[in-house]
Amino acid sequence: MKILVQKFGGTSVATPEVREQVVGQIAKAKEQGYSVVVVVSAMGRTGDPYATDTLIGLLRSIGREVPPQELDLIMSCGELISAAVLTQTLNVNGHEATAFTGARAGIITDDNFGSARILRVEPQKVIEALQKGKIAVVAGFQGRTEDWEVTTLGRGGSDTTATALGAALKAELVEIYTDVDGIMTADPRLVPDAKSLRVITYQEVLEMAHLGAKVIHPRAVEIAMSERIPVKIKSTFLDGPGTLISDESTPQRGLEEAGRPVTGIAYVDGVAQIKVRTQEDFNHGLGLEVFQAMADANISVDLINVSPELISFIVAESLAEKAGMALEKLPVEVEVNPGFAKISAVGVGMRGVPGVMAKVVEALTEADIHIAQTTDSHTSISCLVRHEDLARATQALHSKFGLGQ
Ligand code: ADP
Ligand code: MG
Repeated sequence: MKILVQKFGGTSVATPEVREQVVGQIAKAKEQGYSVVVVVSAMGRTGDPYATDTLIGLLRSIGREVPPQELDLIMSCGELISAAVLTQTLNVNGHEATAFTGARAGIITDDNFGSARILRVEPQKVIEALQKGKIAVVAGFQGRTEDWEVTTLGRGGSDTTATALGAALKAELVEIYTDVDGIMTADPRLVPDAKSLRVITYQEVLEMAHLGAKVIHPRAVEIAMSERIPVKIKSTFLDGPGTLISDESTPQRGLEEAGRPVTGIAYVDGVAQIKVRTQEDFNHGLGLEVFQAMADANISVDLINVSPELISFIVAESLAEKAGMALEKLPVEVEVNPGFAKISAVGVGMRGVPGVMAKVVEALTEADIHIAQTTDSHTSISCLVRHEDLARATQALHSKFGLGQ
């Protein structure tokens, strides 16, 4: 059996018109002789009637804090609706299909509600459906615990459902259909002349995803990478070439992409910078207490700079107040500054190449953008900038590294 997994994001299943296009893509794969597993997200985005946020609002409007189990239960409904609707659409169009909850598809997770991790996949029932010649339409973003409680996999979790099923079924390819034609050199919403990449390595896209490029979820890339399943990101609406994610690096790359230090620009918006000061030296144990306080409050920190008298780091803006409170009991002075964004230049080609940081600083300085903090790895350089400078900063880096059309 030649298996293809096709995942369709929220905008790709939002209306009857676009669902017709989805049916077309699935039919094309069937014609090519594939057994097709389809993974769907909830319909539409914030504000749409069956979008995940709308469903959460339904419970929150009743009052009190919603327990994580019930929150996951309602959050899983959007994908169930999509799966049922698409299955019916396929059947009506003469393509025999059957819908699966995450649980029935065999997605078994831990009980970390809200961002559960897949422990294993038992896809027996999916295989049986495929053997009967049916299209298996699986509700993305969800699974079940050992105890049969419904869990969700966190934002972007349908991507993870798709690659996890792809790995478990030894699929030939996983296709992620979305509203852009592949992985681009930057978010096209911020950079109008961003360009779609033909080929990218797992490593590079993983780095971009971790640094905020939300076109694919990092966990999904990790799973595909560990099982060596090729992934293609494509547009549901345009007939473009899309981006192939695989191990192949330079030989297959377009000439213009090879040997370039920076492949793309990614960002995380909505972060707060926290500055912690002391008269004594942080090296005498107080530094440890600062990070322990964050860990105890379950707040993840990033972009950490430590000097003897000043520690600065960033947290999600939504957790800024909680972070400030968690530090109150320590003998330190705390400053919480919301309204920042982290912007990163990413590229495996920058390893060992001198002058990349200088170029980043040059680009941002020329655009008159204040850099609040920086950090770097072998394959990325990140800067903290004000939220209102984000679009200009992204454009400045994008053109400094020659990534445009
Ligand atoms: P879906 O609902 O299909 O999963 P997402 O909204 O999760 O779609 O991801 C697609 C969006 O990701 C695009 O509309 C685009 O704005 C954004 N995006 C951010 N960075 C990139 C990038 N480097 N390449 C392509 N898209 C990106
Ligand atoms: Mg997504």
